[in-house]
Amino acid sequence: MSLPTEGFFELRFESIGGLGAHGAGQILATAAVLHMGLNGAQFSSYGSEKKGSLVRTFVRLGPAGRPVRTSAPVEAPNAIVVFHAALLRNPATFGGLRNDGLLIYNSPPGPVPEALAALPRTALAIRVDALGIAVAEKSRPNAVLLGTLCAVVPFLDSAHVRGALAEEFAGKHPEAVASNDRAFRRGATEFEVHEGVGLAEGDLPIVRPEPVWGYETQPVGGIIAEPGNTAWNDLSLSRTGWMPVLHHDKCIHCGTCDLVCPDLCLVWRDGGPDSTFERELMGVDYRYCKGCMRCVESCPTSALVREAETPGLADQLRVPQFPGFIS
Ligand code: SF4
Ligand code: SF4
Repeated sequence: MSLPTEGFFELRFESIGGLGAHGAGQILATAAVLHMGLNGAQFSSYGSEKKGSLVRTFVRLGPAGRPVRTSAPVEAPNAIVVFHAALLRNPATFGGLRNDGLLIYNSPPGPVPEALAALPRTALAIRVDALGIAVAEKSRPNAVLLGTLCAVVPFLDSAHVRGALAEEFAGKHPEAVASNDRAFRRGATEFEVHEGVGLAEGDLPIVRPEPVWGYETQPVGGIIAEPGNTAWNDLSLSRTGWMPVLHHDKCIHCGTCDLVCPDLCLVWRDGGPDSTFERELMGVDYRYCKGCMRCVESCPTSALVREAETPGLADQLRVPQFPGFIS
């Protein structure tokens, strides 16, 4: 991969607030502009909540003599970096990827996700366990993903990006410089390349998220057909790689976890005539769980423990809060 002869090399980071995509974009653009002699621009878009909500970071890079005259979102990227594997379920994540493009995604080892069939046939997909490495090195997934990106895009000089990463932390968190550097270097070597997993021909179509209803199409009379509703909420994407897992053999059904949980996650049933408990905890409805770990921290018997979320684990262990109503 090299700088294009016209236009820019464009990257889009698809992430969830809290995983460090914005910071990674800033570090990459800083290294490119201040140390690699390139022109570049970077900005992010996110909702008012930021942490836990969708974050997109855009980076454009070009030769020094080519001014960047746009600040529009990157719609047809050369490279996409996906910070959270759950985002692979959203077709908009791949929107506009060029046929010779690159997709890097954060996931532990396992089968190639079916969603990657939506990629162009000629695109490259790369998996790296950014969360696993980040946890082991006491870093964050963004340092790992930057390492992988620099390893597979040759004109991104790893030494300069590592330097910008160190500068970012040297002032306020000098203790994090070494751990981030280790995470970066592991990201640059511990990845897996998948070729030919996509089935699409040519560039992928551009996806422009638009409101479902506008002034011409909204129901007459100002009717709100789908009012805000806690039951419909799906907070799965708010988890940043960890989930609480219940070990039934240790649970004493004390209800402490239910007192501290900010959402409607813990599912109970009547104890029944043969039980010594009036109510028994059945499990967690991960649809509503944002992974805050208050339940784990408050459980007196360690029946609830924090575990790394691997693809499919939440679906496998989920106990529905509203069976038959919301799947
Ligand atoms: S706090 Fe722990 S022991 Fe008490 S109900 Fe919740 S999981 Fe069970
Ligand atoms: S981690 Fe525990 S307390 Fe936090 S939302 Fe999930 S179930 Fe509730």
